[in-house]
Amino acid sequence: MKEVNASIITIGDELLIGQTIDTNSAFIAKELNKIGIWIKRKLAVADTKEEILSALDLQSKDSDIVIITGGLGPTADDITKPALCEFFKSELIINEGALENVKNIFKQLGRLVTDRNTKQAEVLSNCKVLENKRGTAPGMWFNHNDMIYVSLPGVPHEMKGLMVDAVIPEIRKTFALPAVVHKTLLTAGIGESDLADKLQDFEDSLPLHIKLAYLPSYGMVRLRLTAKNNDVHDLEPEVLEHFTTLKTITREWLVIDEDLSIQEAIFILLNERGKTLSTAESCTGGYIAHLITSIAGSSKIFNGSIISYANDVKTNLLKVDEKTLKEVGAVSEETVLEMLKGLLSQFNTDYGLATSGIMGPTGGSEEKPVGTVWIAVGKKGNMKAKKFKFRFDRKRNIELTAFAALNMLRKWILEEEAG
Ligand code: AMP
Ligand code: MG
Repeated sequence: MKEVNASIITIGDELLIGQTIDTNSAFIAKELNKIGIWIKRKLAVADTKEEILSALDLQSKDSDIVIITGGLGPTADDITKPALCEFFKSELIINEGALENVKNIFKQLGRLVTDRNTKQAEVLSNCKVLENKRGTAPGMWFNHNDMIYVSLPGVPHEMKGLMVDAVIPEIRKTFALPAVVHKTLLTAGIGESDLADKLQDFEDSLPLHIKLAYLPSYGMVRLRLTAKNNDVHDLEPEVLEHFTTLKTITREWLVIDEDLSIQEAIFILLNERGKTLSTAESCTGGYIAHLITSIAGSSKIFNGSIISYANDVKTNLLKVDEKTLKEVGAVSEETVLEMLKGLLSQFNTDYGLATSGIMGPTGGSEEKPVGTVWIAVGKKGNMKAKKFKFRFDRKRNIELTAFAALNMLRKWILEEEAG
């Protein structure tokens, strides 16, 4: 079986000046990788015909598939279509289906369709049109010189919809692809290099067609086994066997044996047990509540949050003793425990989390430097608090605090169950 190679071109001046981060190519690469396609190269280029054409020439040299995003808008700066016309020696024609789609979208918005909007329904005459259910610019699929080119809108959610609904299924039909199996687990509380030491023998024992990848982020490490094989034989049982060994070696730090976030793991943990959570958040400012409520169905496990950023909110709403704040300060074991107690008496949830810390860049002292955080977890009558020390910028400190709190909750629940 021949290896299928793809390359990506993302088009847009905004990508080159750092105004927009190119998330499209990451998504496309991930989706292609899932089905066993290797990415040769990613290029981000300006909205100029010369750059687009030279990128097309370069990517055409060694790729079977070239995926292009961006530059399909109705404004003068979007010139992907004219550039593609030159590349394919083709021309623009109105596509009736796409025009209907533009008219429908504008009708729903209660707006008139202008000539400029009508241009969105223009496609290259040599393409197969990929219907865009989420926006006005259709995707375009080209078969050219034994290769495939796909042009997609730059708007991330439109591009994603087209990739998943149209491009991936079409690629699957076009190529004989290798079998690929991914199995991922999430660990917390151990660093990447320590994990690598513990997994050295396991890694050495893996057959050549199964690879282990370390994907660290926010104090957690994802471990992914990827098996890729050209034979038709079923890879799944073989991967599962190695995955089981991997889970056994990492059991002390294992959060969940799926490719999920820690908040999703918490959601599953609480939902399975029919338990509820609330949060009292000072330094995280509601970020934990945001992480949880971003999960569909979170109302089953989450009741609410008190964002007690100011001391008087801590005293008025959470009944933290003024004396405590005066004597040991807001960032202290006593304060987070009182916050948690006050929270649980108001919300009546099974479990609660409380955070208080100094996120920086200012506000630290010798005794409590920036990054000092206290987190309390527990239920009525059984609570514990722990001090953390983070050393990053404000945004990362907030994120690390939230993830540490969720992991502390997870461990606390499991320990409580174990007795
Ligand atoms: P366009 O199709 O070029 O009109 O792009 C529409 C919008 O999508 C742009 O304003 C960007 O905000 C966004 N966008 C374009 N390309 C990318 C990309 N590679 N990654 C993330 N967002 C993008
Ligand atoms: Mg653009």
